[in-house]
Amino acid sequence: MAIDYAVPDEIRELAARTRAFVNEQCVPAEGVLLDSRHGIPDTERARLQGLAKAAGVFAPTGPTEYGGHALSHTAQAVILEESGRSLLGPIAMNCGAPDEGNILLLDKVATPEQKDRYLGPLVRGEMRSAFAMTEPAPGAGADPESLKTSAVKDGNSWVLNGRKWFITGGVGSGFAIVMARTPGGATMFLVDGSNPGMKVECALETMDIAFSGGHAVIDFEDCRVDESMVLGSVDEGFRYAQIRLAPARLTHCMRWLGAARRTHEHAVAYAGDRQMFGTNLASLGMAQQLIADNEIDISASRALIWQAAWVLDQHKSGKQETSITKTFVAEAVYRIADRSMQLCGGSGTLLDRPVARIFQEIRPFRIYDGPSEVHRRAIARRASRNAEKGLLPGDWM
Ligand SMILES: Cc1cc2nc3c(=O)[nH]c(=O)nc-3n(C[C@H](O)[C@H](O)[C@H](O)COP(=O)(O)OP(=O)(O)OC[C@H]3O[C@@H](n4cnc5c(N)ncnc54)[C@H](O)[C@@H]3O)c2cc1C
Repeated sequence: MAIDYAVPDEIRELAARTRAFVNEQCVPAEGVLLDSRHGIPDTERARLQGLAKAAGVFAPTGPTEYGGHALSHTAQAVILEESGRSLLGPIAMNCGAPDEGNILLLDKVATPEQKDRYLGPLVRGEMRSAFAMTEPAPGAGADPESLKTSAVKDGNSWVLNGRKWFITGGVGSGFAIVMARTPGGATMFLVDGSNPGMKVECALETMDIAFSGGHAVIDFEDCRVDESMVLGSVDEGFRYAQIRLAPARLTHCMRWLGAARRTHEHAVAYAGDRQMFGTNLASLGMAQQLIADNEIDISASRALIWQAAWVLDQHKSGKQETSITKTFVAEAVYRIADRSMQLCGGSGTLLDRPVARIFQEIRPFRIYDGPSEVHRRAIARRASRNAEKGLLPGDWM
C-alpha cells in the first residue's frame, strides 16, 4: 500500500492559521510562564482558548458533534506540530495532554450519558481532566501490572482506595479517569473532582512547569463512585489504556517536535547574527555540525511521526510504529533543544527565552508515556515474535 504524504489544501490552510495564531497570540503571552510553577492560571487559559475559538483553530482532535475538527492522525501531525511551537499553543487550542488523550478515549469508550457529561465539556474547554495510573513504589510505574489502587464492588457502587502521583492536570481538574485493580484485572473509573473520597494533596515540584494543574499527588480514601461511572467494561482497563496510549504518545511527539523546532529556529537566527573570530557563528564548522544535526533530527522525527500517524489512520494498532516513534522523538527533541542551547551560549540558558524554557519541559518526555527502556523492550520483543513468524521489519507495508 502506498503512503500518501500529500497535505490536503484545507489542512495547509489550517496549519497557516495555526502558525499565525501561535505567533500572534501565544508567543506574546509566554511571559505568564515566568510566574508559574504548575501551569498558567485557568483565567489566562480561558482567555487564550477564547482567542483560539475566534481564530477557528480550537479543539483540532475533538469530535465534530462537540465542536471539534476531528482531524485524522496524519492531519494532526501537521497541526499539532504547529501548535507546539509555543508551550501555550496546545493549552490555547485544547489539544494538550492529558485532555487530548482523554478526549480520544472517551470518544471511543464512553456511554452516551458519559459523553454528554464529560466529553462535551472537555472538548469545549469548560473543564480540565486527569488520567491517573502511576503510583509511588511499589505501585504502577514503568510496569503498569504493579497496579495497587483497588476498587471493590459494594451494592451499586465501587469503592476505590490507593495513592497516585505525577497525575498531570490533577489540581483543579473537573474529573479524573482512574485506573484501579478489580478482581479480573484493571478497570477505569470516572471520578468527579468534587468527590470527597478523591483528595488532591499537592502538585509536585517537577522541573517542568507548563502543564495546567501541574503533576499531582492524589489519595483515594474510600472513594465511592456509582457503577455508572465505570468507563467501558469492568476488567478491561489495560486494554483501554492501550487504545489511549498509542495515539496519545504520538500527539506528544507532534507537539514536542514543534517545541524543539522553535529552539532550533532561535539557534539558527542567533548563529546567523552573532559575530566571532572574524565571521558569523553559523559559518564555523563545529556550529554547522550542530545546526545540521538538528535539521536531521527534525526531519527524521517528522518522517517517523507521519508514518506512524498514517498507520493509525489505516485503523491498525500502530503499537510497534508508535513505540519506535516515541523512543526516537523523545530522545531527538532533547538533543535538538540541547544543541540549540549550546549554540545560543549564555543567552540559551535564560528562562525568560524559549530555548531554556523548552529544554526544561522536554526532558521528562523520555520518562512519561513509557520510558525509552520500556519501549525498547517492547520493540525488541515484537521483533523477535515477528522473526519467529518469518516476518521482517516493514512486512506490514
Ligand atoms: C512530567 C510527568 C508527567 C506525568 N504524567 C502522568 C499522568 O498524567 N498520569 C500518570 O498516570 N502518570 C504520569 N506520569 C508518570 C509516568 O508515566 C511514570 O513516571 C513512568 O511510567 C515511570 O514510572 P516510575 O516513575 O514509577 O519509574 P519506575 O517504574 O521506577 O522506572 C524507573 C526507570 O526504570 C527504567 N526501566 C523501566 N523499565 C526498564 C527495563 N525493562 N529495563 C531497564 N530499565 C527499565 C526506566 O529508565 C525508568 O525511567 C508522569 C511523569 C512525569 C515525569
